[in-house]
Amino acid sequence: MLKMRFPNGLKKAFTLSYDDNLVDDIRLMEIMQANGIKGTFNVSSGLYCGENEDPGERWPRLTYKQAVEAYNKFGVEVAVHGYVHRDFTKITEPELYLEISLDKANLERDYNCVVRGAAYPYGGWNETAIHALKHCGIKYCRTVWCDPNFTIPSGDGWLSLKATCHHDVPNLMELAKSFKEMDPREAKMFYVWGHTAEFRNNKNWHVIEELCEFMGKCNDVWHATNIEICEYCLAYEKLEWSTAPDTRMVYNPTAKEIWLEVWGDKVISVKPGETVKY
Ligand SMILES: [Zn+2]
Repeated sequence: MLKMRFPNGLKKAFTLSYDDNLVDDIRLMEIMQANGIKGTFNVSSGLYCGENEDPGERWPRLTYKQAVEAYNKFGVEVAVHGYVHRDFTKITEPELYLEISLDKANLERDYNCVVRGAAYPYGGWNETAIHALKHCGIKYCRTVWCDPNFTIPSGDGWLSLKATCHHDVPNLMELAKSFKEMDPREAKMFYVWGHTAEFRNNKNWHVIEELCEFMGKCNDVWHATNIEICEYCLAYEKLEWSTAPDTRMVYNPTAKEIWLEVWGDKVISVKPGETVKY
């Protein structure tokens, strides 16, 4: 098997994941757009702020109208975060299925896409939750666990996805710099998560502004949403390989063009439905 590369032969990907459909998501999306950063917003569609309700100062949520307008306008990925944000590990199975599938259905209606991503409310996950997510057509679900090694999961590992870090870690920019400088043997992903109300409460918008500006200038990094990276990696896993050592062929049964490292820095791509000799 040849090593996976990201589109255009890149070895590294960067993405963001922000939860809770908050008013400050709009400011983050403006920062992302200005720097060419892509990412995902995890929405509890049963918890929009009422049209005539005071959203408060600490954790202000978007109204339904504001959310639909903003997430559609910026073209970000919208993903499941539980209909009313109940901990997936503390509810019955019927409640769990409702939290996932009702949120998914609402988002699909409002954002015109088949939703395939999620983040665990409160980070709570277990095997029952993974099973339910799979049954509901969810391909990845982000936990609040972190792995600073930029590791990319495989298969069902995407359903207990670890971020690289929360944006509040003191070494955020050191991680960003080491990611920029690394020339990894395997493809790597830098994944940062949080809540935009934290920037408001901690008065530290500069943290994400600096990160987005820095990462936006990295030309050898694929800037993509969570689902774009996940589904690209899952498509790579679906490649079919010839068997004999002198018939090196790879067949791509998926709908995505997949990039592979042949040797050294030589890279090939296999288009959908194509068989390529290498
Ligand atoms: Zn949340």
